[in-house]
Amino acid sequence: MAFNPHLSELPTTIFEVMSGLARQHQAINLGQGFPDSQGPEALRRLACDGLMQGSNQYPPMLGLPELRASVAEHYVRHQGLSLSHEHVVVTSGATEALAASFLALLVPGDEVIVLDPAYDAYRPLIARAGARSMTIPLFPPKWTLDLTAIEAVITPRTRMIVLNNPMNPTGRAFGPEELAGLADICQRHDLIAVCDEVWEHVVLDGQKHHPLIGLPGMAKRTVKIGSAGKMFGMTGWKVGFVCADPEIARVIGKAHQFLTFTTAPHLQAAVAHGLGWGPAWFEGQRADFTKAYHFLRTGLMREGFAVLDSAATYFLCVDLSASGIEQPSMDFCLNTVTQFGVATIPLESLYADPATAPPVIRLCFAKEEAVLASAITRLAAARAAARA
Ligand code: PMP
Ligand code: GLN
Repeated sequence: MAFNPHLSELPTTIFEVMSGLARQHQAINLGQGFPDSQGPEALRRLACDGLMQGSNQYPPMLGLPELRASVAEHYVRHQGLSLSHEHVVVTSGATEALAASFLALLVPGDEVIVLDPAYDAYRPLIARAGARSMTIPLFPPKWTLDLTAIEAVITPRTRMIVLNNPMNPTGRAFGPEELAGLADICQRHDLIAVCDEVWEHVVLDGQKHHPLIGLPGMAKRTVKIGSAGKMFGMTGWKVGFVCADPEIARVIGKAHQFLTFTTAPHLQAAVAHGLGWGPAWFEGQRADFTKAYHFLRTGLMREGFAVLDSAATYFLCVDLSASGIEQPSMDFCLNTVTQFGVATIPLESLYADPATAPPVIRLCFAKEEAVLASAITRLAAARAAARA
């Protein structure tokens, strides 16, 4: 039987592979990014009450009116943006927001700039829209945005750049200077920026998130994507949102109508409520993640691992080579989950050409300290074995 080779030849995502191995080997899962807490009880209670007492029929295609308004108000209040409900389309997670954006804004033959290491959904979704990804690698330990390299790959067919800020898996939060340079490139070459900002609230050590859409000249050429799953630490909820100029949002809505059409109503209503919370709640959550980051970082460094700096996300990266481990990242991760009981993510799975990937692995620190402490002990044993 003939299948679509775009899909039949795709490997299973590394996040699913590693979580599967973690279940099979009863390993501590520092691979796929999710917290080991349940998320805010008030939001779970609201969703639960809604399921029992509210309507369980289709909500409006573009999202519940109260959620669209709440997303816009949230970004006005927390990021100083100028948005209204007309800028917002609610999607089933950021993944659907990405798919709808690519399908709506790309035509076959377009070129899209993607920064490596890249969240693994980008390239296959861009290919499904008939476009071609042009890869720009970033390099550890700083993962700096190379504006000269970006400008060098631009051709008359270049239509879009995908910016993941803050960036998974590197933990990089791009600052005002790099973003101003990128905004300048987008305007000079008439590019659309698709900004995957799912990690916008998970910034560490008191840092600030800078949304590209807020820069002069970018409001009409930027698509900002958010995820309630990351904002409230409930990754299974899959409630995402796109914010863009109403003319762009309208077309993305057209793509969304035949992808999922809509998203579970009571999850939307609960998210609308949570987005209304003030800065104190989000700061408290950031303080907890910052503490967990430093706990894992300090413990790993004590055991001889070379840990790279993270400014955001649930993740930190370890340079294997600088840690004295001369193994490809995939080999180390497979050995560690099957023999030492800790799942991690090899960065080589997030590069267009795995052979060009640095020997780096990613670990999720959004876990209780007791869990992180036992992971550190097991990882130390894995390092000792790899060096023996
Ligand atoms: N983009 C990035 C960079 C992510 O890290 C993730 C998931 N962690 C997503 C998109 C997907 O988000 P969602 O679960 O809301 O689809
Ligand atoms: N974004 C999550 C991560 O980076 C995984 C999402 C998924 O498994 N699809 O770990």
